[in-house]
Amino acid sequence: MLLKHIISDAFHIFYPHTCNGCGSDLLFKNQLLCIRCISELPHTNFAFHENNLVEKIFIGRLKLRAAHSQFYFAKNELIQHLIHQLKYNGNKEIGFYLGEIIGDTLLKSGRFSAIDYLIPLPLYADKEFKRGYNQAEIICNGMHKATQIPVFINGVIRQRATETQTRKHRAERWENVAGSFIVPKAFDLRGKHLLLVDDVITTGATLEACGHTLLHIEGTSLSIAALAHASK
Ligand SMILES: [Zn+2]
Repeated sequence: MLLKHIISDAFHIFYPHTCNGCGSDLLFKNQLLCIRCISELPHTNFAFHENNLVEKIFIGRLKLRAAHSQFYFAKNELIQHLIHQLKYNGNKEIGFYLGEIIGDTLLKSGRFSAIDYLIPLPLYADKEFKRGYNQAEIICNGMHKATQIPVFINGVIRQRATETQTRKHRAERWENVAGSFIVPKAFDLRGKHLLLVDDVITTGATLEACGHTLLHIEGTSLSIAALAHASK
């Protein structure tokens, strides 16, 4: 037992294990956040409530079965720091962990039942290549661990809007800001309930554009989940 502690302490010195939120080393083994940071995470509980703030964003824009954001986004707060870690510091572990929290919440809510696939909102290919991964896919992987719902990779692909597209009618303005989306494996998605997943929801324009493309597939229905919701 003593030897185990000595080895554990030595390991801690050589491989410092600190909280991803505040940097404190008051962590249990394999934990990414300390108890204080975990308690400070700003949960929304949207999943449990019909007509929540995220669902309201899409009313009249996109037909959804349900929508959820796990946290309130706030500048200069813990949640921004964690999302920054995921998107710009290569910290996939924190994204996976937060994805697990989303998955647990969706299970508890009961409003996200019968989902066939988790669909990560795609990045432009060059952006994903530069980053090395799509953060939404990392979140989906964590959600999968909690829910066992399969992640459908490359089910939808994002392309930059071309010049001609940007001159199109106003009704298609979402294509301008969000690029355009194609579904190379549409056949496999027919008749499925899809949960489209993103990191932060602000205006919802990109999710709207991607969601429309998915809803064009015969028989699909759509729900949305994100890590954080940023009010304008
Ligand atoms: Zn902490």
